[in-house]
Amino acid sequence: MNSILVPQKDPMGRAIADYHATGKAAKLRVLSSMFYEDEIPVSTLFRTFSHMPILEQEMITRAKGRVLDVGAGSGCHALELKARGHDVVAIDISELSVGVMKERDIDARPINFFDETFTEKFDTIIMAMNGIGIVGKVERLPLFFRSIKRLLNPDGIVLLDSSDLRYLFEEEDGSFCIDIAGKYYGEVDFEMRYKGIKGATFDWLYIDYNTLEFYANESGMQCQKCIDGEHYDYLAEIRIRR
Ligand code: SAH
Repeated sequence: MNSILVPQKDPMGRAIADYHATGKAAKLRVLSSMFYEDEIPVSTLFRTFSHMPILEQEMITRAKGRVLDVGAGSGCHALELKARGHDVVAIDISELSVGVMKERDIDARPINFFDETFTEKFDTIIMAMNGIGIVGKVERLPLFFRSIKRLLNPDGIVLLDSSDLRYLFEEEDGSFCIDIAGKYYGEVDFEMRYKGIKGATFDWLYIDYNTLEFYANESGMQCQKCIDGEHYDYLAEIRIRR
């Protein structure tokens, strides 16, 4: 669980490295037992501020002080924050992505967010593009908040965006057909492929705001919704309760 991704098993990291080196990349395919096959346009992983969704722009303008970018990918948010004068550390489990970020002059490190030996403190933690997805399953949220407490200064904040996947279960009459006895409906499995590289299947969590707030409170955190996005998505701010 505290593992790092080696290049041979890292489709997204390879795509990011290719795009960084040549300005283009092959198809980055995303497979899931819950969705039709999809693709991530690799150029979007290099988006600049003006091409970011409103929720991410808001995340950047709300950030204060020393910032940790979790699952930073190509480092697009880290770069923007640096340009705005923040001291930024970017972590990612992808060795390839960390290599690209270093070439982009970002203080990037191959660190897994759940690694308890990483104990530096930050004023802001950002998790963009549903970065809380790394939690995988609702039952692991207490572990997530434990890591947050370890990394936040007393007045620090976490800024994250996620989506309520209930729209996938919407009926024609506007009601939602969700099996509440089954697993939480935002728990998804994904697998990525790029060129000949096939990544391992991984769990990825999308969480609705109310469930996030409930678990945050259970863990002694305060949670607040900043803004709603355009389609069942939102930006939330979490801080340690005083
Ligand atoms: N935040 C970036 C990239 C999102 S993709 C953006 O918005 O463009 C999610 C990233 O999280 C990937 O780069 C993946 O390697 C990284 N990641 C997945 N699990 C992680 C973990 N446990 N700790 C740190 N990074 C992780």
